[in-house]
Amino acid sequence: MRKETLAIHATHLQDETAASIAPPVFLTTTFERSEDGSYPKGHMYSRNSNPNRDVLEKGLAQLEGGEVAFVFGSGLAAVSAVFQCMKSGDHVLMPTVGYYASYKLAEEIMGPWGLQVSQVDMTDLAAVEAAIRPETKLIWVETPANPLLTLSDIEAICKIAHAHNILVGVDNTLTSPILQNPIQLGADIVMHATTKYIGGHSDVLGGAVIFKEASAWSERVKRVQILMGATQNPLDCYLLARGLKTLPLRMREHSKNALELATRLENHAGIEQVHYPGLPSNPNYALAIKQMPNGQSGMIAIQIKGDEAKARKVANRLQLFQQATSLGGVESLVEHRKSIEGPGSTTPGNLLRLSIGLEHVEDLWEDLNQAILGA
Ligand SMILES: *Cc1c(COP(=O)(O)O)cnc(C)c1O
Repeated sequence: MRKETLAIHATHLQDETAASIAPPVFLTTTFERSEDGSYPKGHMYSRNSNPNRDVLEKGLAQLEGGEVAFVFGSGLAAVSAVFQCMKSGDHVLMPTVGYYASYKLAEEIMGPWGLQVSQVDMTDLAAVEAAIRPETKLIWVETPANPLLTLSDIEAICKIAHAHNILVGVDNTLTSPILQNPIQLGADIVMHATTKYIGGHSDVLGGAVIFKEASAWSERVKRVQILMGATQNPLDCYLLARGLKTLPLRMREHSKNALELATRLENHAGIEQVHYPGLPSNPNYALAIKQMPNGQSGMIAIQIKGDEAKARKVANRLQLFQQATSLGGVESLVEHRKSIEGPGSTTPGNLLRLSIGLEHVEDLWEDLNQAILGA
């Protein structure tokens, strides 16, 4: 089956009470036990398993081409479950450019427990190879990466890692399982903040870990899911499974809108530079086409001609684009990254990050145009 069909049918939950087409939500903490002590439907307690969670996990595994998936109450809980598969003294190699809190989690929380973490420029393959230590167990990749949406070559990194018996985990949040499938490129683990494109409506926090194949690592993540208890509630699982059904359609539109706007912005007199991997002028264009042949996501970074004050004025003048962090929802958002990242930030002051939503592209263009010209 193709992804459009899988997204709808792999998340189907058969209702035996009323034969409803839409799945029921199993808002229950616990399940009845039989006289013989067994659990006839396989569920005992909702921290261990729940029908809405099972179906979401099954759908995510199928869309990423993995064997098993585990969902959590947030993206960071999912990252943390993967890191918790390592032991004191093990080393994880992370990107210098990536989701800041994932790095902080490894360094600030797991560092004192003995996890070693170091950062490397993941776009530099020789540097990646050189940064490997005898204790390295995991290379963590994020592509495209904030704030300039630079790409790392998943296939090439996997080749290096596997030659050293190291696993590769990819944070695939910015592209969704529709536009990029790291497992097909050799990755062992894929992680999503389902908070973003998969939920798609800015109303659910969630995370997922998908494994290429069931293994000792995946078994341990399952134990972390049950024992650390950062489980996702059934209603959120229902909302995310519903999100999956329209994901292929939404990604197509996010992608189409973003490419059109990136192309127009590139030729706008008020713009210094557009960062979008789908533009032929982008230094990562060839890799983008190879790694994401079905289109790029809805994320664009633009640098305004002028200083930080000018960029913030543009953000303030935007009417349709709301100023907020996060991404992947139906509504367009704009973020002045430098002021969010704080004093240590190396992000250019004139940079704005856009999460292109599903509004009509001409309305978005008119809004961007008036804000840039009027600032
Ligand atoms: C949002 C995000 C996360 C963390 O997800 P939460 O649900 O906020 O915990 C991790 N990685 C990337 C790339 C993200 O955008």
